[in-house]
Amino acid sequence: MRKSLVMKVRESLTRHAQMKIEQTFVDFRNAVNDWINISINNGWITTRKLQKYGYKQLREKYPKLYSAVLLEAMDVAIGILKSSKSQKTIPKFDSDIICFKNQTYKLHNSGIIVPLCGERTYIPLYIPKKFRKYLLNYKLGRLTIFKKNNWYYVSISVNIEPPQRNPTNVIGVDLGVHNLVVVADAKGRELLRILGDEIIEYKELLEEKYARKQKYFNKILKKDCYCGNGYKNYSKYINHCIAKKVVEIAKKYNAIIVLENLKKIKGKSKNMRKLFRKWCYYDLIQKIEYKAKENGIPILKINPRNTSKTCSRCEYVNKKLKNERIFMCPNCGLEIDRDLNAAINIAKKGLMKLSSPTSPISLLRKECNEI
Ligand SMILES: [Zn+2]
Repeated sequence: MRKSLVMKVRESLTRHAQMKIEQTFVDFRNAVNDWINISINNGWITTRKLQKYGYKQLREKYPKLYSAVLLEAMDVAIGILKSSKSQKTIPKFDSDIICFKNQTYKLHNSGIIVPLCGERTYIPLYIPKKFRKYLLNYKLGRLTIFKKNNWYYVSISVNIEPPQRNPTNVIGVDLGVHNLVVVADAKGRELLRILGDEIIEYKELLEEKYARKQKYFNKILKKDCYCGNGYKNYSKYINHCIAKKVVEIAKKYNAIIVLENLKKIKGKSKNMRKLFRKWCYYDLIQKIEYKAKENGIPILKINPRNTSKTCSRCEYVNKKLKNERIFMCPNCGLEIDRDLNAAINIAKKGLMKLSSPTSPISLLRKECNEI
């Protein structure tokens, strides 16, 4: 599994080094565009064969670019050509980016040494503590230097191997508005509850503030103007924290995470669409999936049908359930918090899917044959 470590370049970067980076940005950008043109002139080549057609010529044109960097520019050009859908317009590369293969750079005293225009240059980095173990223990991949809001950043991709696990449990995750998240196991234990009302209220407040600010800007500048949207960062941050907690619980109970397959309900009812506007659940699910993968925890998606209307004790389906917070079972008399009930049902459905012989997820079953 690939992970990108993005690190900010320290302010102690020398002027000379900064100049070198800027020069290389220009050369690299031009080289990518030249590769694109060479490919197109020779019949839209999108393989490494392209090297044959232009290497010599570009080597002369950019004598200061290291040959490995020039070839990396070719790979970027190939990537762009492959992803450009129509062959009618010539794609253009105009980013401030330089890429390096793993053999061309090396780590040095909390920084890196990279071959920039004509010389190897030291770039000091802010390396967060949690990145050090990746940098020291894993195989390092491609390195990218890029510029954003006048800051330089370095991104290094590493190949990490998630730990092997043998899950012996399942946990169900229910997502909602009143409770953003409720996590429970199939035995009915509540493991986590995150109240959503206040979080969503605050998000809406930020949204409103943003809209007002935007309106004001548009008025005085008489055009569309971007003024930053704090609420998106806020939602992402909250989602990050929730995902971290959910994965921690899965680790603690050695469990598989069971989620509702939201694709099956998307757009079906007005209420659902309303719900999806309230909070970015897709982002939350993506974050849970990513962090689970990183930790070697399998994820299982189940059909969300009736998860909140079914009694988690006797499986009676209460079709009359509206918006009550408490689920009352007319069959067995169970009274239980609505979202907890749903989370238990999700966990149970996951368990059932795992143990059914026709299950398409035999791979998962192999991983957790104890269930
Ligand atoms: Zn019941």
